[in-house]
Order: sequence, then C-alpha cells, then structure tokens
Amino acid sequence: MTQEFESYLLPTYARQSVSFVEGKNAILVDSHGKEYIDFASGIAVCSVGHSNERLNKAICDQISKVTHVSNLFAIEPQEQCAQKIVALSNYSMKCFFGNSGAEANEGAIKIARKFGEVNGSPKRYKIITLEHSFHGRTITALKATGQESMHNYFGPFPDGFVYAKNIDEIESLLDEHTVAVMIELVQGEGGVQPLDRAKVQSLSALLKSRNILLMVDEVQTGIYRTGEFLASNLYGIEPDVITLAKGLGGGVPIGVVMTNRVNIFAPGDHGSTFGGNYLSCAAANEVLDILEEIKVTGELDETLIYFEASLENFAQHHRAIFQEHVGFGLMRGLRVVDADTLASIINHARDEGVIVLKAGRNTLRFLPALTITKADIDEGFARLEKAMGNL
Ligand SMILES: *Cc1c(COP(=O)(O)O)cnc(C)c1O
Repeated sequence: MTQEFESYLLPTYARQSVSFVEGKNAILVDSHGKEYIDFASGIAVCSVGHSNERLNKAICDQISKVTHVSNLFAIEPQEQCAQKIVALSNYSMKCFFGNSGAEANEGAIKIARKFGEVNGSPKRYKIITLEHSFHGRTITALKATGQESMHNYFGPFPDGFVYAKNIDEIESLLDEHTVAVMIELVQGEGGVQPLDRAKVQSLSALLKSRNILLMVDEVQTGIYRTGEFLASNLYGIEPDVITLAKGLGGGVPIGVVMTNRVNIFAPGDHGSTFGGNYLSCAAANEVLDILEEIKVTGELDETLIYFEASLENFAQHHRAIFQEHVGFGLMRGLRVVDADTLASIINHARDEGVIVLKAGRNTLRFLPALTITKADIDEGFARLEKAMGNL
C-alpha cells in the first residue's frame, strides 16, 4: 500500500498504515476488506455516520444545482443554516461561516478584539484561555491554545493571550485590559476534561458583571455531542460568542462563529472565500435536521444512556487499568494507568477491528457517530474486550 511509495505528504502526522475505502454509519471497511467499528467518527466529525443516505442525497441534490458562489451574493442555504443553528441554540445570536474550527476561533478572537477597541479606553485586548485547552493550529488559535509545548518554533505570536491554570484562577487574572475569556466546557484534545458546572455558571455571571466576553469553543462539544445541541445549553449559561465546526457538516468542512454582539462587524471587517457556500450549508442543514429528529424522538438520549452504561461496564471489568470514566453524552474518556498501556490498547483495538482515540496524556477517548446503533455499540465493546485480553 501507501508505504511502497515515496510519500509527497509533509510528515505532520504519525499515521497508521490502515486505509479505509468505505463505510456505513459506524462501520468502516479498510482496503483489505476488514471491518471496523468506528468509535471515533473522524474525531467527532461524522456525526450522522459514514455514507449517510439522507446526507449524501442532500449533497448530491445541491451540487447538481450550484456548489459555490461568492459571499457577495445571498446564499439561501447559508441563511437557513444560520437560522437553524440560532433556533436550536436558543440564544439570540447571529452567525458567520468559515471552514474549520481554527478559523471559527479566529473569528471569535477578532470579535473580541474589535469589542475591546470600540468599548472605551484603554483598549481591552487580553484574552484568557485555560491550560490544556486546544483551539486550533493557525498562529493565533495556536497561541490561544494553552499548551506551551505546541508553541515551539512558531513565534513570534500575536500578543494578548494569558493562560489560567484552571477555572478558579481566571478571576485573579482579570485586569483592565481583559476583553474575553475563551474556554471549552469539556476540554477535548486536553483529555475529555469537563469543567465544573457551578464554577462555569459563576464565571459567566462574573464576566457579565465586568462586561468581559465569555467565548465558548464548542468546535468539539457542539452539535449534540454532549447530548444537548450545545454544551452551553447543558451548562445552563448564555455565552457571548460560540464557535462550532467538527460535527456540523457531517464530514464536509464548515465552521461557525456566532455571537450576541450582532452589530460587531461591518462589511469588510471579516470574510471567507469558501465559508458558508451551497455545498457545506446544504450538508449542515441536513445534518441538523437528522440530529434534531433523533433528539426529539428520544433516540439520541437512548443511545447516550446505552453507550454510557456499556462503557461503564467495560471499565469495571478492567479496574486496574481504567482509573476514571469522564465526559458527557457521546464524548467520553477513560483515564488509563499510563501512556504506554493506552497506546497498546489503541493498537490492539485496531487489530481487533475497533477504532478508538487518544486524548491528553493518558485518556482513551470515544467519539462515536450520534447515529450509532446498539448492535454496533455491543460489537465495539466485545472487540475491545478481546483487545484487552491481548495486552
Ligand atoms: C478540533 C478543534 C479545534 C480545531 O478545529 P480545526 O477544524 O482542526 O481547525 C478547535 N477547538 C477545539 C475545541 C477542537 O476540538
């Protein structure tokens, strides 16, 4: 396969040699015809599973009419998508469409910077983020990411990012220059680490009282990943800025920044060539319809409960290896005794035909499609049991 060829790809990933050629909902098939249960869904991207018939039809119908025009023209699916997102979120906000999580966060940072510019002097510009956060790979989103090791080589960076060790430390870091706090409610890449709900609510109240923006990066937690449309809904807060991406397009690249500061941008302040085009918004509209349906019928909640119980049962069988079960909905993790054991579990799982992920230093991460069936959940955990037997 691929290793036989000289690769023309920059080596930015430690890739596995498996390559998938097709899939159906939570099942993937590799180039040798071997089947896998996919508990990763392309890192929370394939929210409605692989080759979802409704999503495929929506995409094909759209591209048989028009795929792209520029944002200099009205794009009806983009208007519809914004309306759906706002309605499902229950917040009074407006949306801007880009193509990725990092780009959505860039938009959030620009909103904060402009907010700080137009609201009194001195200009407020500082944005506080958390250690172990992940906000993306562009220079500014990378600087917002509270993991110093990822900043090697790439400076100088834009100024104005301050890292809090944890949510408790944020208050002591606020000063006259602070314009925003940006957090993930469940840190994804950092290790499926949920913030405490009561602490988040009091932070939200504190920031409102000081006219500091609360920006929630829901690139991973959004689009029903935690069981509610947004983790912000689950936490009972009203953020000022929210970013979305991964699960929204079901595999088609799309990102959103939404804010209650609906007049912050004027024409020319921000833009994107591809963002919000017919293709990506037609996909997102269908994904949102499918997921809203399974939420309303109770099917999604049943899946969440079933997955959680299956995962807990699996963890209980291996209490010497799994120290803690963390996360919400279909964003879950098991803390593994050490990083080597975790790597070994992931490799044996793949050999047994189940795809799982690593997060942080020692967390085994689960992000299955929101449409996964009980039969596939059962099969996935049966294969994981076999993998544990091979450690
Ligand atoms: C994945 C992720 C990003 C980056 O998204 P890209 O689409 O890779 O740019 C940003 N924030 C969070 C919380 C993420 O999980």
